[in-house]
Amino acid sequence: MRISNLGYPRIGENRELKWLLEAYWEGKLEEEDFRKRVFQLEENHWRRQLALGVEILPVGDFSLYDHVLDMAFALGLIPQRFEPLEKEGSLKLYFALARGAEGIRACALKKWFDTNYHYLVPEWEKEPRLASNPYLEAFRRAKQALGVSGKPVLLGPFTLMKLSRGYKDWREALESLLSPYAALLEQLVEAGAEWVQIDEPALVLDLERPEIEAVEKVYNYLVENTKVRIMLQTYFGSLSCYPEVMRLPVAGVGLDLVSGRKHNLANLEHYGFPKDKVLGAGLVNGRNVWRTDIKAALELVKYLTSFVSPDRLWLQPSCSLLHLPVSVAGEKGLPPELKNALSFADERLKELRILKEALTRGEETVREEIEEASRARQALDAMPGRVVPAVRRRVSALGEEEFVRSVPFEERQQLQAEKLNLSPLPTTTIGSFPQTPTLRSIRARFRRGEISKQEYREFIRQEIARWIRIQEEIGLDVLVHGEFERSDMVEFFAAKLSGFALTANGWVQSYGSRCVKPPILYGDVWRRESLTVAETSYAQSLTSKPVKGILTGPVTMIKWSFVREDLEEEQIAYQIALALRDEIAELEKEGIRIIQVDEPAFREALPLKKRERPQYLLWSAQAFRLATAGVKPETQIHTHMCYADLEEVLPALEGMDPDVVSVEAARGGAELVEQLGRHGFRRGIGLGVFDVHSPYLPQEEEMERFLSRVLEVFPPDRLWVNPDCGLKTRKEEEAVEALRRMVAAARRLRARL
Ligand code: GLN
Ligand code: ZN
Repeated sequence: MRISNLGYPRIGENRELKWLLEAYWEGKLEEEDFRKRVFQLEENHWRRQLALGVEILPVGDFSLYDHVLDMAFALGLIPQRFEPLEKEGSLKLYFALARGAEGIRACALKKWFDTNYHYLVPEWEKEPRLASNPYLEAFRRAKQALGVSGKPVLLGPFTLMKLSRGYKDWREALESLLSPYAALLEQLVEAGAEWVQIDEPALVLDLERPEIEAVEKVYNYLVENTKVRIMLQTYFGSLSCYPEVMRLPVAGVGLDLVSGRKHNLANLEHYGFPKDKVLGAGLVNGRNVWRTDIKAALELVKYLTSFVSPDRLWLQPSCSLLHLPVSVAGEKGLPPELKNALSFADERLKELRILKEALTRGEETVREEIEEASRARQALDAMPGRVVPAVRRRVSALGEEEFVRSVPFEERQQLQAEKLNLSPLPTTTIGSFPQTPTLRSIRARFRRGEISKQEYREFIRQEIARWIRIQEEIGLDVLVHGEFERSDMVEFFAAKLSGFALTANGWVQSYGSRCVKPPILYGDVWRRESLTVAETSYAQSLTSKPVKGILTGPVTMIKWSFVREDLEEEQIAYQIALALRDEIAELEKEGIRIIQVDEPAFREALPLKKRERPQYLLWSAQAFRLATAGVKPETQIHTHMCYADLEEVLPALEGMDPDVVSVEAARGGAELVEQLGRHGFRRGIGLGVFDVHSPYLPQEEEMERFLSRVLEVFPPDRLWVNPDCGLKTRKEEEAVEALRRMVAAARRLRARL
């Protein structure tokens, strides 16, 4: 029995990778120095894992930006438009794909399966070939630094193909990967790698017969042509083609026994497990933070040994630990019962070690650890705020009428048009404006208690006032207050709502250098104070234009937090929705006429398995309506989603019954326009006309061209003009200039209507 890890958080305990990346991009760190320091970080992570008892060490999972980009880059999948940069050196080119360059659009960012991690979408314009082998380099670095023969971790060809765009025929695309992958693996074998972990999370999706056959072909080929020992690793759910995968000539199969537990175990029981393979048993949760029930996990492993002999069993996390913060140790401010019930990446590895000790040396040797884990879980359940009877009563007393607006959409549309009196192609933004270094430092000082709440508030009010003037001067039609009081759209609300706790240092990589600090939802949620009323109504008092109130929706609050597992998500969503409902009623009373409830996580929360989708779509839409349906017909409800694929969310959008929807479109607008045309979408829609994540300024002509294409399929009175997301991360001058160009583009188009 051995302890294997699938991947370790790359960003670093104190976000070291973030600081290094930013220093390098800003030219404060030379390339050589940069490389030296990131490799040092990588090495520290290896040492930590070894010290925690990892026996099969992942190498190559560490990435300078993204592991999907790493594979695309290794295979030379570099779009034509980056050609001018090809002579600039591989690092510059690599980052250009991720972030764009002067006049060159970056590759699209997309959510990695149903997580909040974003990967870069590979674009197939060229035939794949082995251009470089970062996995080999990592393997060699580990060997040299630690004398350890690591297990290279790389993204599998099937998943790579599934996540890519730009090829004509998927079968041919997959076929074209065979020989470069074989060459890559061959190099690893030659360098002495005993095992290679090939990640194929796409094998948990619903697959068609031809896809399964293609997977069989790929792995037969790779094993035959390289003689490599492959651990075929699946995660994020149960394997959808269990018997076929078990027949593959690979040396091991990794199964997620946390999120895919039920079906994976049923398959194991039904089909058994092949004698010639290693089972990678994903026992501890790589996606959520609650301490493992060690006793139950022990029972599970014992049960597994009735299918596979202990020497063919690897104890593993359910997926890469990328999705967890590094360690609970640094958390000082959490209630002790809560802190004690948590397990981040390092603690997960410790749990694996306890399991192994118990199984190999006897449970008595770790009796105290096992008891402690049980006590911690019980103490969590008994925590104050875990169950609040008034909240439970309010949810169970909900009636039909609380979920429906008083007037259907068509009539509302009329009333709203009269009341708001906006010009066609109304311009607006998604909510946040740049947070200046001064603002960040004032917030940090406020948190340290160095300045008073009064002073902090006063500064926020000044920012709001300044930006109301800027927006009026730019000529936007619907203004926002700017979200300056929010460090983050989920954390801010979590801090004010009962039932959530915030960590001090629980950072998780979102993409590249960007991190999020998911709150921990451990108890029943309720609104003990107003959330946004003061700032929003202050902004409205400064202007005669409508100020749009901005809130974060229930699905996003859940999806971007670490959520309790003792209550159904649907129930949690209703609790959050009721808190928002009260907030919205108050905003409306204060004269706010437009309210946007952001649901950027709506799409990523969609279950990977189709059979689970209808239920999710039902409760999530109901939660949205519970939050918003209490308003007057003339109050306009907006929602904003990120990276929406309309096709997938359209039924849900109807179910949510919003008046206007804004979606990101700047990095892939053509498909959206086409979908819009096809579906005859009736609501208002704002298609992001520029990409807020690219560091380069958008061109006015480009925005205009995009909008006029949309106008061919969509009427101007329902088309909104906005950036594709909040502007929080942009520099102020950039945001202002981009918005000026956007308003100018809208005006030019209006003149032509
Ligand atoms: N209102 C939020 C903002 O503007 C929306 C962010 C998001 O969609 N991720 O920042
Ligand atoms: Zn967004």
